[in-house]
Amino acid sequence: MSHSSTSRVQEYIGDPVSDAAPVEREKLEEIFQDIQDDIRFDHELNGCLNCGICTATCPSAHYYDFSPREMVQLLWTENLEGIYDAMQEKIWSCAQCYTCAARCPFGNSPGGLVMLMRETAIKHGMESAKSVLRPFSRVMLKLISTGNQLSPDMINADHFADWGPNVSKIDAPLTTLRKAIPMPTLHTTKTAWEVNLKTSVELYTIWEETGVLDSLETIDENLFDVITDIMDEKRDDYDDWLDEQDD
Ligand code: SF4
Ligand code: SF4
Repeated sequence: MSHSSTSRVQEYIGDPVSDAAPVEREKLEEIFQDIQDDIRFDHELNGCLNCGICTATCPSAHYYDFSPREMVQLLWTENLEGIYDAMQEKIWSCAQCYTCAARCPFGNSPGGLVMLMRETAIKHGMESAKSVLRPFSRVMLKLISTGNQLSPDMINADHFADWGPNVSKIDAPLTTLRKAIPMPTLHTTKTAWEVNLKTSVELYTIWEETGVLDSLETIDENLFDVITDIMDEKRDDYDDWLDEQDD
């Protein structure tokens, strides 16, 4: 499925000095095609004035070497190598706040386009995607296997090193909260609240049908194995429960 022409595609690929292409053109085209083939692409990219309003209002642009205008321009001009380069680091700086989408006079959604680039980075098993998602493996294990979110013990300095000194602000009140409200989930990856067995099994179907598990397998095969084992066990439990109802 293709939604746009490739008339603006950049002709030259590779380092202009060494003339050595870091990635084969075929691969770069495949990556761009995956981004462009997503049904959201044409809704989120309507052209670009290069006005920079998105970057001026982007919180991430204030703190990182990141510009939504640059991301949109790379995609609009079909700069295949630039797109690939941006996927190695820059795309992971976006906070997904969508301020840019609310401001763009062209009705673009730079944040949405960044999301497509991220999904494609995951699909292609890029190292940038693996390293960004690695610290969240425990969260993914809990969320996918139980249908639940963070347990309080996960919010600590070790798991959120990128918060820098600010992590102490969440650590301090949590200590008090933990004493006041002793959560049974402390130091565990079990559920913070009980998710119905039928709901869990339905969620597994959603994770499978939407390709979430395929993406997970690409990014972290060990985690995928652990999660699929848990899913198999819960499905067996659910089948047993159904059998009991028939008796
Ligand atoms: S994406 Fe929109 S706001 Fe950003 S530079 Fe292009 S036209 Fe301007
Ligand atoms: S969605 Fe991303 S690119 Fe857009 S304003 Fe927010 S942080 Fe910036």
